[in-house]
Amino acid sequence: MTNMLRSRATRRRARATNFIDISVVLHAGMVHWPGDPPVAMTRTSDIARGDSTTVSKLSMGSHTGTHMDAPLHFLRGGKGLDEMPLETTVGPARVIAIRHPHWITPDELRSHHIRRGERILLKTKNSTRCWRMDRFVEDFVYLSTEAARFLAARRVRTVGVDYLSVGGYRERNGVVVHRTLLGAGIWILEGLDLSRVRPGRYELICLPLRILASDGAPARAILRPISHVGRR
Ligand SMILES: [Zn+2]
Repeated sequence: MTNMLRSRATRRRARATNFIDISVVLHAGMVHWPGDPPVAMTRTSDIARGDSTTVSKLSMGSHTGTHMDAPLHFLRGGKGLDEMPLETTVGPARVIAIRHPHWITPDELRSHHIRRGERILLKTKNSTRCWRMDRFVEDFVYLSTEAARFLAARRVRTVGVDYLSVGGYRERNGVVVHRTLLGAGIWILEGLDLSRVRPGRYELICLPLRILASDGAPARAILRPISHVGRR
């Protein structure tokens, strides 16, 4: 192998191993939003029991783990996830570190010069705290209503958060935050684990399941540093 070919192969390997999985692992009994259906996975046939195949039955709410919200989750007549444009979640994205320990404020967002059409993933302390707990964390970091209005005014394309809702559980601003974002044409990605991601620019690849007229759907989401794919 020539040196040039060898270095190309090395670069390819570097690219291939550079993906960061930012989705949480789905499993039976996992944490879910209070009141939503529990997550159950049962084997309907199992090679270990002498069956010829192993097949499972999955049961979960449509907003389980890493998932997307469709406009119709909160807006009458809104689009379902089957109608989501693929560029919503495939393309350059920016991971922004949020310092505030309780909620996300417009002041903190303003300092990041967020632009129209951006895919913004907000990394809060949720990533290192909440996903390590076996129970639902009520006091997770959420978007203040004013921060949601700020993002809506900036006309971003997609907003991702690192726990199960963009709005607060105790604050009870989930309805207004969802309606503000979805009403502005912003798609919402929830339940990310950004604990292994440094703030910065990445290529986002995230595909929610294409379920007809779905209010939400589980998604696999991965990032890779933008330096490997070039700036766009
Ligand atoms: Zn939601």
